[in-house]
Amino acid sequence: MLDFNLNLGGGAEPAAEQEDAAQPRPEIENVIIIGSGPAGWSAAIYTARADLRPLLITGNELGGQIALTTEVENFPGFDEAIQGPELVERMQRQAERFGAEVLIDYVTEIDTQSQPFIVRTASGQAFRTQSIIAATGASPRRMGVPNEERLTGRGVSYCATCDGFFFRGKDIAVIGGGDSALQEALFLTKFAKSVKVVHRRDALRAGATLQRRAQENPKIEFIWNSVVTSVNGENKVDSITVRDVKTGASTDLPVEGVFVYIGHLPNNQLFVDKLAMDEEGYLITDKLMRTSVPGIFAAGEIQDHRFKQAATSAGQGVAAAMECEKHLAELAG
Ligand code: NAP
Repeated sequence: MLDFNLNLGGGAEPAAEQEDAAQPRPEIENVIIIGSGPAGWSAAIYTARADLRPLLITGNELGGQIALTTEVENFPGFDEAIQGPELVERMQRQAERFGAEVLIDYVTEIDTQSQPFIVRTASGQAFRTQSIIAATGASPRRMGVPNEERLTGRGVSYCATCDGFFFRGKDIAVIGGGDSALQEALFLTKFAKSVKVVHRRDALRAGATLQRRAQENPKIEFIWNSVVTSVNGENKVDSITVRDVKTGASTDLPVEGVFVYIGHLPNNQLFVDKLAMDEEGYLITDKLMRTSVPGIFAAGEIQDHRFKQAATSAGQGVAAAMECEKHLAELAG
């Protein structure tokens, strides 16, 4: 991986000397990929194999959500489970093998009005680029309570598909009252001894079918009108404290797992007022992964609030890369 400390090749800021890059960057990049989850790496692999010398800017969360996952058992091609971080490392090595260059940095601004586009980063660099693939992902909304962050991966999880298996025979809680919370609560009953669904109101947001299935499931119990005020445990979760919002009473629920499903937040800050978004803030793309600005494509959870799987994000990254290549070929005439 190249260590880009300096401005490279003809960016909008003054160019400086390059330290250890084998080859200077082109004055105008073909494509900059923003984000380093499965969508970003897949786009990098395909655009690199198309000889476009993509530059992938990782963002602060190298690897995205999958890198926070322990065992990944459902990514095609790995009949034995693979650790999330290793899967991401392999994707990176595969992309670099074909000439993708990786910049560990954080994009702070994109200028979509200029042609070529300008991409600025936290380290003060600026790049001109003919196209962009936005793969910044989405982040699960956190509860924002004490010990939630510290115990993430030690009982607190945002992905039942990834982690449910580890809670076989245990008492767990699911937080939220939407479709995701109930769907994942039902999924988790395959493993857990009991599932307490903690919801802040006394009516569910989830659709009728899921509500009925959850209410009929003997392993599921609803804790109504309640919010989590603390996750408790030293090295792993041993309970959560919930407060009844009507009575104000606090109770400790002994659980070893806490699955949080209170919505996702697309990482869209870069694109506000620049690219069309839906009412939830996800980028709007067409079937060819095109955003509202020609030359800017999007893939993965920044534009997908339905599937949210590493494999679907990877597929969308591939599609965005192929369309991007076509767009660049058309630009070149
Ligand atoms: P959602 O529909 O936005 O539901 C989020 C839930 O979390 C709501 O019950 C909400 O409570 C609660 N919540 C939000 N912020 C909270 C906070 N700070 N503390 C405690 N609780 C909080 O999100 P989702 O369930 O992830 O679904 C997202 C979209 O995907 C929806 O359109 C959904 O229909 C769709 N989806 C569909 C399916 C399916 O059809 N099988 C499955 C999954 C998702 P309130 O109800 O009080 O607002």
